[in-house]
Amino acid sequence: MEHVVIIGNGISGVTAARHIRKLSDKKITIVSGETDYFFSRTALMYIYMGHMKFEHTQPYESWFWKKNRIELKKGFVTKVHTTEKEIEFTNGEKLSFDKLIIATGSKPNKFGWPGQDLKGVMGMYHKQDLDSLEKYAPDNKTCKRAVIVGGGLIGIELAEMLHSRNIPVTFLVRENSFWNGVLPAQESAMINREILENHIDLRLGVNLKEIKADANGKAKSVVIAETGEEIACDVVGLTAGVSPNIDFIKDTDIETGRGAKVNRFLETNIKDIYAIGDCAEQHEAIGQRRPIEAVWYTGRMMGETVAQTICGNRIEYKPGHWFNSAKFIDIEYQTYGWVWAQPKDNEARFYWEHESGKKCIHINYDKKSKEFIGINTFGIRMRHEFFDKVLTEKRTVEYVLEHLADANFDPEFYKLHEPEIVAKFNKENNTNIQLKKKSWKRIFSV
Ligand SMILES: Cc1cc2nc3c(=O)[nH]c(=O)nc-3n(C[C@H](O)[C@H](O)[C@H](O)COP(=O)(O)OP(=O)(O)OC[C@H]3O[C@@H](n4cnc5c(N)ncnc54)[C@H](O)[C@@H]3O)c2cc1C
Repeated sequence: MEHVVIIGNGISGVTAARHIRKLSDKKITIVSGETDYFFSRTALMYIYMGHMKFEHTQPYESWFWKKNRIELKKGFVTKVHTTEKEIEFTNGEKLSFDKLIIATGSKPNKFGWPGQDLKGVMGMYHKQDLDSLEKYAPDNKTCKRAVIVGGGLIGIELAEMLHSRNIPVTFLVRENSFWNGVLPAQESAMINREILENHIDLRLGVNLKEIKADANGKAKSVVIAETGEEIACDVVGLTAGVSPNIDFIKDTDIETGRGAKVNRFLETNIKDIYAIGDCAEQHEAIGQRRPIEAVWYTGRMMGETVAQTICGNRIEYKPGHWFNSAKFIDIEYQTYGWVWAQPKDNEARFYWEHESGKKCIHINYDKKSKEFIGINTFGIRMRHEFFDKVLTEKRTVEYVLEHLADANFDPEFYKLHEPEIVAKFNKENNTNIQLKKKSWKRIFSV
């Protein structure tokens, strides 16, 4: 019987295993060095914040694996012997495969900062990082201040986590406004305000120089490169982005760039070896998408796709329209299509912000054709299906505004904000767009 070995028990590897089982009788083994069972990485913060226990982040009961004949092996893989078709573990043990799926996710970036491996210094990616945070920052007596290095989605989550236990936080962000390589200036400014309102000591435009140790080899302070200022702290969170976790294949003949290089079928250059999820890098970007996408739903989609291919139905990975969502402390964020930090030459923008300064929409569209390109929404929840359809049908910005009632989730939003939004667009663009009533059934019943 063919043996499929999957390295990584995250969303990508586990989705692949589940779908291979649905489609075939193959022997399946999932290997992970992190935890015995799959858990939801995106829920890690809620454990620290006391909203759930670790067990609650595991979507499947422990009997699920046995029932579905998916073998689980705890162990860290150090080598892949591609000719022998074997993987090797830290203790020298080997496991042979007929097909191998590399689904090893990401690891937090470290840029060679002095002190980056001290006690009390951690990323926020793996379960072990959470355990380390619990150990060094259980409360504000043990941890009098934490410093977070790197402003992005994980950095702000870590700030919120620490803040929930009343631990003072200093947040060092290299850019001069939060996440402004991704967010347009208005949204970035909104999140700067949100961070400051939550009493987080946000420092913009600064870099970490070094982390200093106390006599026990534990972090005691950080030094800021630009000013030389030394900030006393007990914990340092390194959240300056993530990279594909593929060091263990670097000296094999599997082609790597930043990640494990794959074609559209998620195949590496070595027959019978595939890579999916955060650790996979497309040879050529798909449309405007990045060659590496470290998001949950694309890992799941790649898992489904590779399962088909491995079970004899070789299909291309087609991720569809880009979307993403996150939460910046209390402000929900969604994005559909493309709204770059800076508009491209052919693009026009429409921005509306509520007087509270905590809600906005930002629409990107083509100057000439008026074709809708993308939307950011902050503090407002929109419907994925609506924007997916609008992007597929290449609708105009006018169409989107006319149908805002169909786009949003919140019935109150219509009454509260839509007339104001459309009036602002009409005024700025000398148009006469009229809001249409909600027509959910008409649009989505087909
Ligand atoms: C705090 C946090 C919040 C996030 N929030 C969001 C969000 O809101 N929305 C979103 O879309 N995405 C979010 N993400 C990103 C998302 O979690 C990842 O994109 C996703 O988990 C990647 O899944 P994966 O299966 O590719 O890899 P992973 O989940 O990283 O799983 C890979 C597994 O392989 C194991 N492994 C690695 N190397 C080896 C080895 N050599 N031997 C054995 N095992 C190995 C790892 O330990 C890990 O268990 C978040 C990430 C973090 C850290």
